[in-house]
Amino acid sequence: MPLSLILLALAATASGLLAQQPAAARTFTFDPADPRENVADDAPKPPFVSSARRVTTAPELPDAPDEWIANSLQWVNFVLEHYRPSARAEHPLRRAALIRLDDILHIPSAPEKPLVQKFYQDRIEQAVADIERTKVTEGMRIWKLYNHGFLVRTPTVSFAFDIVPGIRTVGFKVSKSLLERIARQADAIFISHLHNDHANKDVARIFLSMNKPVIAPEGLWADTPDLASKLTYPKRSTSAVHDIPLGSNIGKSLKVVAYPGHQGPRVLVNVHLVTTPEGFTVVQTGDQSGDPGPGGDFDWIAQIGRDHKVDVLMPNCWANGLGRMVRGVNPRLVITGHENEMGHNVAHREDYTQTYNRLFPIHYPAPVMTWGESFHYRRDDF
Ligand SMILES: [Zn+2]
Ligand SMILES: [Zn+2]
Repeated sequence: MPLSLILLALAATASGLLAQQPAAARTFTFDPADPRENVADDAPKPPFVSSARRVTTAPELPDAPDEWIANSLQWVNFVLEHYRPSARAEHPLRRAALIRLDDILHIPSAPEKPLVQKFYQDRIEQAVADIERTKVTEGMRIWKLYNHGFLVRTPTVSFAFDIVPGIRTVGFKVSKSLLERIARQADAIFISHLHNDHANKDVARIFLSMNKPVIAPEGLWADTPDLASKLTYPKRSTSAVHDIPLGSNIGKSLKVVAYPGHQGPRVLVNVHLVTTPEGFTVVQTGDQSGDPGPGGDFDWIAQIGRDHKVDVLMPNCWANGLGRMVRGVNPRLVITGHENEMGHNVAHREDYTQTYNRLFPIHYPAPVMTWGESFHYRRDDF
């Protein structure tokens, strides 16, 4: 449903007009080809799901025994260790494991459960240890961290996107020392927009203390001048290509386009397109979800693939018009992020099940990955 229609529906609810509409207009209908993006919280739903947003995901449990959670999380780790992400022929056990993870992470109290917190912390810790011992000699390795966070490494540079420690819930975060280890492994960090599941002042300060650029949308943290004055704000534009020198990686730089994206009408989102010295190009979208109508962000999203040969696109899994976005960018490979953002309530904790559903009609190679997993990209494979 277009954003404008949702806004109309919300306005109608607020004014009580909805009650005057014929009952048929509020009846649940379902089109299996509909990716169910932008479903309103109060949209009609069948009785067996808790929210209309969760029609394409198996119903969640209100709670579960610790023994089942503990065994399930160990089984998930076991399966993911033995069946690695694949862009073309994913082993079916991986999907079973990721959907079991959905089951656990959709228990409303999951972020408060020590078992879940430890699972999250251990996976990120293991990924950082893997990053520390991995030297890339060809292609590009991409680690998926939390929540829409990635670390990209090529033979000459490493850079990160949207690294955050976790969420506000006490216990669901990684330590400052682990964040410092991540920063030591990257030459720069890109922040897409101000929301807590993408941007973190402590992380930015750690990178700056190591003489590593922090690239962000103009105005980010303007209320904290000592921090804001050290950020790099590339001009938001569909054409300007910025050369960003990497202070800690002497002589190396990244070529960057900061596309002028949005989340809703007001939040500025930089859709960063980054090209490495080897000529690999990646795009991370943040929470890009702008107006789908004429004159909106899709006008330039539709041209990215014309202007750049993009290797890997890292979109938010719940983006409105995910298919339009992927076709516009036309990457060789898609790696979604933002699944199971634990700071969101269950109806908005978009899961792996929905990612599979949304990627299904798009027909681009797209390995579905969880926290801490990585994928080695070689251009000749795609
Ligand atoms: Zn956001
Ligand atoms: Zn977000």
